[in-house]
Amino acid sequence: MTKKQKKSPWVVLFAILLGIICGSLTGVNTSLFGVSFYSVYNLFGKLFLNALMLIVVPLVSSSIITGVARIGNDHDFQRLGLKIFGFYLGTSLLAILIGLFFVNIFNPGISIHESGTIATALQPLNAAQTSIASESQLHFTDIILQLIPSNIVDAFHGQMLGLIVFSLLFGFAISKIEQKNHTILMGFWQGIFQAMLVITDIVMKFLPIGVFCLVAKSFATTGLGSLQSLALFCISVLAGLFTFTFIALPLLLKFMAKVDPRLHFKAMTPALITAFSTSSSSATLPVTIECVEKRAGVSNRICSLVVPLGNSVNMSGSALYECVAVIFIAQAYGVELSILTQFSVVLLSLIVSIGIGGIPSASLIAIVVILKTLGIPVEGIGLLIAVDRVLDMCRTTTNVFSDSCCAILVARSEGEEQVLKSHSF
Ligand code: ASP
Repeated sequence: MTKKQKKSPWVVLFAILLGIICGSLTGVNTSLFGVSFYSVYNLFGKLFLNALMLIVVPLVSSSIITGVARIGNDHDFQRLGLKIFGFYLGTSLLAILIGLFFVNIFNPGISIHESGTIATALQPLNAAQTSIASESQLHFTDIILQLIPSNIVDAFHGQMLGLIVFSLLFGFAISKIEQKNHTILMGFWQGIFQAMLVITDIVMKFLPIGVFCLVAKSFATTGLGSLQSLALFCISVLAGLFTFTFIALPLLLKFMAKVDPRLHFKAMTPALITAFSTSSSSATLPVTIECVEKRAGVSNRICSLVVPLGNSVNMSGSALYECVAVIFIAQAYGVELSILTQFSVVLLSLIVSIGIGGIPSASLIAIVVILKTLGIPVEGIGLLIAVDRVLDMCRTTTNVFSDSCCAILVARSEGEEQVLKSHSF
């Protein structure tokens, strides 16, 4: 099957703009002939998200299994694994430090504290926030438990970390079995992988509609005005994400990977737009894999390992956000932020970000975990709920871009010359 990929980013960008305008104008209550606009955005947005989620499990498992089965006999496997984790941790730490820098420059919490808005902003938690708080108590052990699911069905039930560990093991096992069975299983999983890419293509045809509905829904709920009260916080997060995405990562691409960062941005455009509009790096995963492999030209061997694993482990944008958010809340409460406390926030953001899933608003759970660990009032999360969704769009885009950059860095360090050379976009 030949791929005639004529995706126009302009159509999708137009859909985003239209979504912002329509969502802000209609809000949640406007209706026509008894049908509310919001419910229409919600329905079609959800359908699109479901369609993307539907692809994730078979695509990720088949991608990892075929990738590892191919390199399982490779003595370089361990070395490659270490290198990948080195890049993940390095980029996430860099992101957090950039966030820390900006939150210390803008001090968003201090101005909120002084303006006295904290008294009204921190009214009793609503139901959603309460559930976030109770979920967080299980979170640390959950992360560890997720690594080894008790059965395969659990792993295939959307537990990404478990699915990844199982797929890594299964792929490795395939590389060790007798040749006849090895060939059969490889053919089977490669077939699934290719079929999933075809399904991804079909789903992506609906991208403009899905994007419009998701963005309209988000702006109908939060509105444009909500950004004002938290402007400084938003500026700190956005400045951090911007610096990391448009300066730090491109510098790494240019000087470490020795590729043109502009070409990589171009190659990743469909994935970045999908990430921005879905606020879910997991839902974006099929598109990310396609962009990294087909458009940026990274081999399946590297892509199948780095991208799905990074999707669960490497949440640079989220880690940055969590760090800024915790410092912001601490400032708002007048908590003394010594170097040691800030160091703890950095470390906790790094660890906790590894455990959160690539789903919308997952960072809220992570922030509660960090606040609890540091003894800062968890109710502080109420300060940023209003702007979380909008910032989620941005940090998810950074998460996805960071994963793709790690894939490029690893591929180039493994001597892949074809990366971003024969581009078809
Ligand atoms: N929405 C983010 C993602 O999917 C996770 C987060 O909430 O930070 O990557």
